Amino acid sequence: MRPFTYTRAETLEEAVHAARRDGSRVLAGGTTLVDLMRTDVVSPDHVVDIGRIAGLDRIEHDGPVLRFGALAKMADVAADPVVRDEYPVLAESLRRAASQQLRNMATIGGNLLQRTRCPYFRDGVSPCNKRTPGSGCGALTGPHREHAVFGGSDACIAVYPGDFGTALAAFDATVDLIGVEGARALPFAELHTDVLDRPEVETTLRQGELITGVTVPVTPVLRRSAYIKVGDRAGYSFAIASAAVGLDIRDGVVVDARVALGGVAPRPWRSTAAEEALVGKPFSTDLVKEAGVAAFADAEPRKDNLVKVALGKRVVEQACLTAYSRGEL
Ligand SMILES: Cc1cc2nc3c(=O)[nH]c(=O)nc-3n(C[C@H](O)[C@H](O)[C@H](O)COP(=O)(O)OP(=O)(O)OC[C@H]3O[C@@H](n4cnc5c(N)ncnc54)[C@H](O)[C@@H]3O)c2cc1C
Ligand code: SF4
Repeated sequence: MRPFTYTRAETLEEAVHAARRDGSRVLAGGTTLVDLMRTDVVSPDHVVDIGRIAGLDRIEHDGPVLRFGALAKMADVAADPVVRDEYPVLAESLRRAASQQLRNMATIGGNLLQRTRCPYFRDGVSPCNKRTPGSGCGALTGPHREHAVFGGSDACIAVYPGDFGTALAAFDATVDLIGVEGARALPFAELHTDVLDRPEVETTLRQGELITGVTVPVTPVLRRSAYIKVGDRAGYSFAIASAAVGLDIRDGVVVDARVALGGVAPRPWRSTAAEEALVGKPFSTDLVKEAGVAAFADAEPRKDNLVKVALGKRVVEQACLTAYSRGEL
């Protein structure tokens, strides 16, 4: 690990001031950042610890929106009785992520900004355009079973690994940010970038900008919802494919549908094709199959990750059926 300076910020103002310097990185729970620093995959000059800033850990659910502070722990949001009982997709996406120990430490803001688990990126030595721009991409020529079937490029085919981000992508969430130029609210869909030819640029955050929280509108689709994830193990593994689904069904007909896919693209991937396949039609088991097919119609798998297409369709179907079974809460 390279030497770095360390600032423990007590207030947001202090944090923003410290994080504006080039070479700064924000530290929240540290469950991703410290790993990457230990292996020199990420080598910040300055680390700005925001973990003690008061008030950023609130979970609020009165009124027309839910709001989670950036320092709310994944475990606390997943276990919150209102989130758990009324907004199942959010609680499930958090419960299915990592381990209980990690969730006790890891924060909502850090979860959204976690880096890819691409093994070539993390081993610190393989060619990797994301770690060392211009060095090439080990995954394009080597085994790539975990990699993207949507949205990759000739520069990078890594997937975004987060589960909560996949859920947020389906439900019109907004991210609250603060930086030297003040506060702003960003649609969650605009937080992560497509890799295109610059895989090292993963978000639209400005230098030194911090996430202060996430806002999610309360809608019928958020209530009748589900998150289904398939990984290599039942627990404690990243998604090979996952789906967040929300349904609004009136008189047996789907009037609104939300579908987002995880583990298959460089960013949380909303599937408008699956949504269009569902809306306006009577809900049925055939319909959810159509939604699965529509979700993966434009997939571009490579030789090692064909499985993601077959699996992904089933995951979408299962998420639709589970959401449906929850009825109107
Ligand atoms: C073994 C293992 C298994 C895991 N499995 C899963 C899984 O299945 N699903 C899943 O979703 N995740 C999984 N994770 C990832 C885990 O959820 C993340 O490590 C965690 O959520 C990151 O939160 P943190 O607070 O520790 O972030 P940190 O490690 O502190 O930070 C992560 C990144 O976010 C930045 N950052 C943090 N907070 C802010 C902020 N408020 N504003 C701006 N930048 C910020 C940091 O600079 C850093 O780049 C796993 C992790 C491990 C180690
Ligand atoms: S897929 Fe992306 S992160 Fe992985 S080696 Fe290639 S450039 Fe690096």
